[in-house]
Amino acid sequence: MTDDRLQGLDPASPDAFRKAAHQVLDGCLDQLFAAGDHPWQPVPADVVARYAITGPAMGEEALAARLVQDVLPYGTGNTHPRFFGWVHGTGLAVGLMSELVAATMNANVGGRDHGAVYTERAVIDWARGVFGFPQGASGVLVSGTSQATVIALAAARVRALGAGVRKTGQGGQQLVAYAGAGVHNATKKAIELLGIGSDHLRAIPETDQGMDLAALQAAVAADRAAGAVPFAVVGTAGSVDLGRFDDLNRLADLAAEHGLWLHVDGAFGAWARLAGAPWDGLVAGIERADSLACDFHKWMYVPYDCGMVLLRNEAEHRAAFAARPSYLQGQDRGLAGGDPWFCDYGIDLSRGNRGLKVWAALMAYGPDRLGAAIADNCERAAQMGHLVQATPHMALMAPVVSNLCVFTADARLAPAEQSALNTRIAQDLQLAGIAVFSTVTLNGATALRAAITNHRTRPADIALAIAAVDRARQGG
Ligand SMILES: *Cc1c(COP(=O)(O)O)cnc(C)c1O
Repeated sequence: MTDDRLQGLDPASPDAFRKAAHQVLDGCLDQLFAAGDHPWQPVPADVVARYAITGPAMGEEALAARLVQDVLPYGTGNTHPRFFGWVHGTGLAVGLMSELVAATMNANVGGRDHGAVYTERAVIDWARGVFGFPQGASGVLVSGTSQATVIALAAARVRALGAGVRKTGQGGQQLVAYAGAGVHNATKKAIELLGIGSDHLRAIPETDQGMDLAALQAAVAADRAAGAVPFAVVGTAGSVDLGRFDDLNRLADLAAEHGLWLHVDGAFGAWARLAGAPWDGLVAGIERADSLACDFHKWMYVPYDCGMVLLRNEAEHRAAFAARPSYLQGQDRGLAGGDPWFCDYGIDLSRGNRGLKVWAALMAYGPDRLGAAIADNCERAAQMGHLVQATPHMALMAPVVSNLCVFTADARLAPAEQSALNTRIAQDLQLAGIAVFSTVTLNGATALRAAITNHRTRPADIALAIAAVDRARQGG
């Protein structure tokens, strides 16, 4: 009996496994090359039932078939050319290669001295150059901007209260942070997780030019007068609702004047930096931030998940996170060598090889080709804006400033009726597999929202999607 159970976990037949693995690869390639035939679809109930983990193990070859038939078709649909929902990246073909290699290497990139550490460092070095951060600035790849924000604001807190805060906690000191009213929820969550309390994240009113800086200054002065400790201002490069950008140069001036840490949430918008004129002007001043959070999985199209935090000052980064017990001591030679270790820059000790898929994208396509796709997405959003304005009864709800287009299908209706209509249209087009818009509520009315972070979208896709919205409006 013991012999039976201990079959081990490597393939019993390498040849059979090779054949099965090639079938999976072919299934993936077939789906990838026909991305336009694979919109989101609901997962059928019988497929969900087959996901239950019951019964005897099926072995590797049956699993291969199951992966292709029951799993592969039921993604988010964000690989489809008319997927404009939320802010979803659309993946890259080379991601398929790099993920295969990463899974085979199975590297733990918490630290030590091996190849995956060097490819991630190469990515961080490259990003440091792109964003104009100084030599010696540090960074780490993380799950996404949400985690990156926690890391950045934890370092800001150490600057404000000293490294002792890691031991003693904040005591009676009340830290306060500032951000535009439309700041992404990730900042609010980070402030909550750090124990600062989201009541102490001031929502500064915004105009089309971003945060109202006079209101920001008044809020800082009022908090100081009340005995609180203003410590950080969060600028947004690409707001999630409207794609707006704060004036980062003016924010950097103000942060310097008031002794605040400037953190930039550039989850997707930071990459306008690669898109050339006029789009790169939106992020002018980003090089002056103390920290930047952004994602490779949104507007750099890299497969999920991969975000990044960059810190201007490596010593401040380390001061907030470094802590290695003796079993993790670095050595001057051997596998335990190498410095820095990424575990000194963030929350995770064990870490996957996120760097490889970014490295692969940059090596294969280069920043110019990626930047051209980003610029084209902005042009597609502008095209959509023009079509909306040219279609009877449709109207923009806000100017198109980057890659977001927010509009209503029928501006003649009262807000409640507009909300119902736009919500229905979004659902109908999703279920019909025609296009994926998401929705956002502005001034009491729910609007249709397209965030174009999709390198597969062509002008004809935009025209088709807006025509479909128009038909759906009339067909309701
Ligand atoms: C998506 C997004 C976030 C959160 O990033 P994740 O990668 O999903 O954690 C934060 N800020 C903005 C502006 C975003 O668009």
